[in-house]
Amino acid sequence: MSLPPAAALLSWYDRHARRLPFRVAEGRADPYRVWLSEVMLQQTTVAAVGPRFARFLDRFPDVGALAAAPEAAVMEEWAGLGYYARARNLHAAARAVAARGGFPDTVEGLRALPGIGPYTAAAIAAIAFAVPVVAMDGNVERVLARLTAETRPLPGVKPRLAEAAQGFCADPAMRARPGDFAQALFDLGATLCTPRSPACALCPWREHCAGWTQGIAAGLPVKTPKRARPLRHGAHFLLTDATGAVLLRRRPPSGLLGGMLEIPGAPWRESAWAPAEALAHAPLPGLRWQRLPGVARHGFTHFELSMILFAATVPRLAPPAGMEARPLAAAAAALPSVMRKLLALHESGADGDCVTNDREV
Ligand code: SF4
Repeated sequence: MSLPPAAALLSWYDRHARRLPFRVAEGRADPYRVWLSEVMLQQTTVAAVGPRFARFLDRFPDVGALAAAPEAAVMEEWAGLGYYARARNLHAAARAVAARGGFPDTVEGLRALPGIGPYTAAAIAAIAFAVPVVAMDGNVERVLARLTAETRPLPGVKPRLAEAAQGFCADPAMRARPGDFAQALFDLGATLCTPRSPACALCPWREHCAGWTQGIAAGLPVKTPKRARPLRHGAHFLLTDATGAVLLRRRPPSGLLGGMLEIPGAPWRESAWAPAEALAHAPLPGLRWQRLPGVARHGFTHFELSMILFAATVPRLAPPAGMEARPLAAAAAALPSVMRKLLALHESGADGDCVTNDREV
């Protein structure tokens, strides 16, 4: 199977490259910035990443500063971006890079760092170290499936697409500019070869695209249907005081949302929580809790979560062991998105039924 010429894509890229806050216009890119932007862009949109990237760099301007920071500070800076294992791995990898005196400059060396998978390693190697390798993400897989008119479904066909893509590495134009080629592929997938209606009329590779020639490009790639995500249920307790502080708890360091702050609650489980049952998990006994109407919903990768919320107020918070009090107005910035949805439910302000957790309910 013949691949289209890299030179055609590079010449298109020279005219149409996206201006992105994390992209350098000229010269070799800084591996720290490339790495940070690629990690942020996993599961997060380019528009959302832009300001957060700048803010993160203000706080942790280089890999040494990130390595020296406490993990809690990194987790808080990541709040709202989701997929918090990324932040924990970022911090662990920064420490490994600082300990070895700099970033490895090979795909294999980069892959050995915490949280760096095949895509991110290839992207950093190509963009920051000019290694001729094609970084495969969902956009690039879509472009390859269309170029090769691949009708076998994803995800099973991923290895074949990756193998086909590495064929570009034999093209001298790609070998001369591996970083630009990687970014040109990203831009082609993001701006022309888009999921629903590819703009083939504007594409520099149209004449070489089997999907376009056969008139099947828009229907590719074929995907195996996903199974519905299971639903889990949570019950949380928003305890505030007269000074405007709210009671928060830090989650265990590993696992889902590991190390993040949360609004205390009952474990997330498959069956719904009856209010009386949930109250056994309230952070303080003997309070008059108001069950707010409605639920907050949040989607995780592997399950959907539906949460009910109880609220109570005390004159002055005295946090029990393992918990802390923070100003409610500032808490949102330190909480993950799932917890912010509980704050939004609370702010919606409707009255609910009152119940107590004096351990007799
Ligand atoms: S011709 Fe169309 S389908 Fe083929 S690579 Fe270009 S934009 Fe994608």
